[in-house]
Amino acid sequence: MTDKSDVYVTKPFLPPLAELMPALEQIWESRELTNGGVFHQRFERELATHLGVPFVSLFTNATLALVTTLQCLRVTGEVITTPYSFVATAHSLLWNGIEPVFVDIDRETLGLDVSRVEAAITPRTTAIMPVHVYGRPVDVDGLQRIADTYGLKIIYDAAHTFGARYRGESLAAHGDLAVLSFHATKVFNTFEGGAIVCRDVQTKQRIDFLKNFGFSDEVTVVATGINGKMSEFHAALGLVQLQHVSDCISKRAKIAARYDNAFSSVPGIEVLPVLPGYESNFSYYPIFVGPEYGTTRDLLYLRLREAGIYARRYFYPLISNFPMYRGRASAAKADLPVAHAVSESVICLPIYPELSGVDQQRVIDVVEDAS
Ligand SMILES: *Cc1c(COP(=O)(O)O)cnc(C)c1O
Repeated sequence: MTDKSDVYVTKPFLPPLAELMPALEQIWESRELTNGGVFHQRFERELATHLGVPFVSLFTNATLALVTTLQCLRVTGEVITTPYSFVATAHSLLWNGIEPVFVDIDRETLGLDVSRVEAAITPRTTAIMPVHVYGRPVDVDGLQRIADTYGLKIIYDAAHTFGARYRGESLAAHGDLAVLSFHATKVFNTFEGGAIVCRDVQTKQRIDFLKNFGFSDEVTVVATGINGKMSEFHAALGLVQLQHVSDCISKRAKIAARYDNAFSSVPGIEVLPVLPGYESNFSYYPIFVGPEYGTTRDLLYLRLREAGIYARRYFYPLISNFPMYRGRASAAKADLPVAHAVSESVICLPIYPELSGVDQQRVIDVVEDAS
């Protein structure tokens, strides 16, 4: 191994601890730790304002939020979704006894291929669960047209989208419901955390009951709810993190631009195309290793590891290849050719606000040398 320090695909941003201390002192003083306290209320309001969305309901994590969206909209039967995502997307369906139906992805958006969605609709289909992969927009208009035609709900797994904007608004503003993740590895983190974005106050109220066991008041339980509440500690951290997130995204943008510049002259390395109307949050920096490159994706991945660079193959394997999914008819490889090709060529390179120029150059050198 080298004497240089290891570089991981991400390094969570944390604010100076001193900025959090006043909130911690207030929590210690008040002993108000959870159940919709003052920090929770403030963070919900400031987050909705920051994102420019009508209502936000905070959660312990995005996975419980996804599970809750399906309960909220009483989704049953089959749901059309993508195999090219983190496994939590499809797991949220199985946790609700819903059959995931995988549809191939589009090579440009890397989200659901809208031209293939209609053919997957059956009388049992009640909703679509698309993912804005790497925080980039899937074809939201095309999906909405299909949902309107067939009376389907759309629940976006918007876990990657914090700070990403499309046609002047937050990507999380689309769909009946959208779910954000504030996990440590995401652009905006509260250690663990998540949220559901919704459009009206009645829906927010139902979500708020569902995340608190279904209690609507001290003695009334209106639904089979779960415990998905965000604590005061996490909400207080979120309020401080909000002050820094725009600066974090600008730093990520500079790193992405340097990669773009370096890889434009490396044969066989493809980067994400520019999308009109899209303002990125630079949450991930995927490269796609093509046949003209000097070696295979997996050998490049190993070369990076040998150099102490822990890149990740997001998303490999596909969700449809995991044991609880691969037996399903819609998981057949022949029907998911684009997802397989993308999954077998992708590597996500390190990108985070504190990535130094020297460490970024080490990543670039390995990619250039292996070509
Ligand atoms: C991170 C992630 C999740 C899960 O988020 P948690 O907050 O860790 O539960 C779900 N979907 C996608 C696409 C993700 O990347």
